[in-house]
Amino acid sequence: MRAFDYVDATSVEDATTFLQDEADSALIAGGTELLVLMKNKVINPRLLINVKSIDGLHRIRADGEGSLTIGSVATIAELGSDEVVQRSFPILADAIRVAASPQLRNMATVGGNLCQKPRCWYYRGSFDCFLKGARGCHALNGQNRGSGIFGRSECYAVNPSDLAPPLVALGASVVIQSPQGRKQISLADFFTLPRGELLNQTILGRDEMVVEVRIPKQPHRSRGVFLKAMERKTWSFAQASVAMQLSRSDDRIEDVRIVLGAIAPIPWRATAAEDALRARALTRQLIEVASAAAVEGAHPSGDNRYKVTLVRELVKRGLSALLNT
Ligand SMILES: Cc1cc2nc3c(=O)[nH]c(=O)nc-3n(C[C@H](O)[C@H](O)[C@H](O)COP(=O)(O)OP(=O)(O)OC[C@H]3O[C@@H](n4cnc5c(N)ncnc54)[C@H](O)[C@@H]3O)c2cc1C
Repeated sequence: MRAFDYVDATSVEDATTFLQDEADSALIAGGTELLVLMKNKVINPRLLINVKSIDGLHRIRADGEGSLTIGSVATIAELGSDEVVQRSFPILADAIRVAASPQLRNMATVGGNLCQKPRCWYYRGSFDCFLKGARGCHALNGQNRGSGIFGRSECYAVNPSDLAPPLVALGASVVIQSPQGRKQISLADFFTLPRGELLNQTILGRDEMVVEVRIPKQPHRSRGVFLKAMERKTWSFAQASVAMQLSRSDDRIEDVRIVLGAIAPIPWRATAAEDALRARALTRQLIEVASAAAVEGAHPSGDNRYKVTLVRELVKRGLSALLNT
């Protein structure tokens, strides 16, 4: 590992000023991801800026009216054990229960989870790849069992976060700060397909940091499901996942978000499935139609064809679980 300097940031302003002043720097929170990348020499920052030292940034606050604000250095374990999360946003609690391992959840933060890099072994290994500034993606015609089936871009690595699909399904937004100021954008817009000069799966700029994540109050009669397919039952990244949240009025589906995980470089909205469901009553027949629509436009290549079947089945099982709720 290359030698580096280390500072404890005392405020968000302090952290973003450090980012601005040292181009070759990185934020560190739990370190469960960053330190591995540094040990493997995938990234080699000269300066690490600790954001866990920022007072109050780990706080999880309910406003009493149904929405929740999560400080970016709250750990995944803290979020999973939060009473409001368990009661009002169970799809998030369910996703946390099957994310990584208890030890990792105790260290890893919400901000770090949303900003983690893909697990693609071409990126993490000693290969040149698009995300490291080279041309093309080896996974297209190479080892692509874990690669994406949606979201054509210059990179086929999938977004590995288990927190992102349920948060997008809940309509969460993210607060970002740079030395120029603060902005709030929808979490769905925070993620982006890597392309051109953008060698990342998020829009986060060099001197920006995630400050907090906000989950809005859910509509009346809103219900959700999170399902994750894994190679083993614990401590495993998703092969595919689905987070869905839907609300009904007079038994007709009013609002619906279906977000697929680990099948594209971003959390992927299954919009054709959502369109098939909207304004209709949920029936077994409609579930067949919607789960087929969820894989419309998939473009598997080689070893990742199984993900098409996985996605269709996950959507079918998720909707079936909501049938009589
Ligand atoms: C063995 C193993 C299994 C895992 N399994 C899963 C799994 O099943 N599901 C899953 O979702 N994840 C899994 N993970 C990933 C794990 O969740 C992430 O490593 C963790 O969430 C990262 O959080 P951290 O606080 O440790 O981030 P760090 O390692 O500190 O940082 C990660 C990245 O985020 C950036 N960053 C951190 N905080 C901020 C911020 N506030 N603003 C902007 N950028 C920031 C850092 O600069 C760095 O680039 C696994 C990891 C390991 C090692």
